[in-house]
Amino acid sequence: MSVLLYYTPAKFMKPSIHPEYFPQAKVICACGEEYEVGSTKEEVHVELCSHCHPFFTGKQKLVDTARRVEKFHERAAKKETTAHRGGKKRKLQKRAARKEAARATKEEAAEKKSEK
Ligand SMILES: [Zn+2]
Repeated sequence: MSVLLYYTPAKFMKPSIHPEYFPQAKVICACGEEYEVGSTKEEVHVELCSHCHPFFTGKQKLVDTARRVEKFHERAAKKETTAHRGGKKRKLQKRAARKEAARATKEEAAEKKSEK
């Protein structure tokens, strides 16, 4: 790296408004690779870097650090197991059947009345 990268014009900077600068901060990737950069944080943890990103490696590989795929499969499985319980559709069907039955008994009663 060139010397220019480490150059911080401290005497031109307004004092006590700038964060501390670490010229050799460590970047640690989930794949295990480590880099040195200039940063206001001493250590930076990342999920992807040029060493493991598919764009640079040319290989299609999924790095699922947030467990997104796993979580989706869990949710899908849960939905399947709870599907037999019914739901809004089932509830509406039940309600419609109840209404139909109530109307039938009312019609029966009206018929009986008219017979008398
Ligand atoms: Zn990496």
